[in-house]
Amino acid sequence: MQTINTTSSTYITLEEKYGAHNYHPLPVVLDRGEGVHVWDVEGKRYYDFLSAYSAVNQGHSHPKIVKALTEQASKLALTSRAFYNSKLGEYEKKITGLFGFDKVLPMNSGAEAVETAVKLARKWGYEVKGIHGNEAKIIVCENNFHGRTTTIVSFSNDPDAHNNYGPFTPGFLKIPYNDLPALEQILKDDAKNIAAFLVEPIQGEAGVYVPDEGFLKGASELCKKHNVLFVADEVQTGIARTGKLIACYHEEVQPDILILGKALSGGMYPVSAVLANDHIMNVIHPGQHGSTFGGNPLACAVAMAALDVVEEEGLSERAERLGKMFRHEIRKIIAKTDLIVSVRGKGLLNAIIINDSQHSPTAWNLCVNLMNNGLLAKPTHGNIIRLAPPLVITAEQMEECISIIEKTVLEFKK
Ligand SMILES: *Cc1c(COP(=O)(O)O)cnc(C)c1O
Repeated sequence: MQTINTTSSTYITLEEKYGAHNYHPLPVVLDRGEGVHVWDVEGKRYYDFLSAYSAVNQGHSHPKIVKALTEQASKLALTSRAFYNSKLGEYEKKITGLFGFDKVLPMNSGAEAVETAVKLARKWGYEVKGIHGNEAKIIVCENNFHGRTTTIVSFSNDPDAHNNYGPFTPGFLKIPYNDLPALEQILKDDAKNIAAFLVEPIQGEAGVYVPDEGFLKGASELCKKHNVLFVADEVQTGIARTGKLIACYHEEVQPDILILGKALSGGMYPVSAVLANDHIMNVIHPGQHGSTFGGNPLACAVAMAALDVVEEEGLSERAERLGKMFRHEIRKIIAKTDLIVSVRGKGLLNAIIINDSQHSPTAWNLCVNLMNNGLLAKPTHGNIIRLAPPLVITAEQMEECISIIEKTVLEFKK
């Protein structure tokens, strides 16, 4: 383990003493960021290969997003939705146009947007589909991650996320991920009571599980056939991360409900969104759902700038191209070592699988060594390390990162 000098250890001690222990961070204290880099309080520079769980796709402190934030903050930050504001409509027009939906419902965190989608799908189920009162069900996948609220953890099978948080919200049916026959069966059995299928196009938190080609397309067609809403949680996979604006586009799927968050703001501010067409969104009337901060002018200004950056800097194409290069180069490293079993992912959402048991400290220790060599990444589940740099990374920077990974892996001793 790195020897921690007094500056870092002071901050770490403060967090340990005064903060709830609901995270287990790597022992590095970050103080500044720019583009693909972050600096710790001692001034050491790192490549950020977590990107705040893919919230910082546009890079740290992107000047265009900082400008939008500071200009809007000094003008008008929050009005609540009791009044109209001069940014919301413009933002709504932009985001619905970009993703091809009639309407957007703005929220703040990813979990809130998922909650919103659950409520929207249920209400649609009762008022449009004609499901009997309180009978609506939503299909979810095993090993899902959709956030941390009480309802969302009700349908998580991760014991850490779920255990001892009951009583749980009923109305969720779980099927294996990437299993079209299971989806077809459950729809055949009970379609009249099913409002929606909620799915991550790639399971990020679970360890970057990429489904077979055709899964998303097949699932969306099955949903259509049974009058069930196909709801894509693209909070992590969206906003160019996987090489397309949203991961569903890899299979030319347009979800009925699209959930966005994280990089929608370039990591500058909590901004999330639920998008749907009128025949779904119009079931929600004034007073039936909302959030004090949802749709505030500051969030709208930041999100518009963040979406501009994605387009102007061609981040989808960049993620696609550099992702291919990354997996190609990692495979060369795998050929030289027993430490890594495989690499998987799409675009710049990738993971390496460490050749050790789920509960071994190997992946954690490798991340500590990567940190010492100037690259920050974290295990997702046990022996899986997610590697997801900001999408503004250049080919030269990626080469440097690959040599850091190679050196660290080849020098690593268990
Ligand atoms: C991170 C994430 C969420 C939750 O977002 P928060 O902003 O942390 O509430 C939901 N769904 C997916 C797929 C995520 O990766």
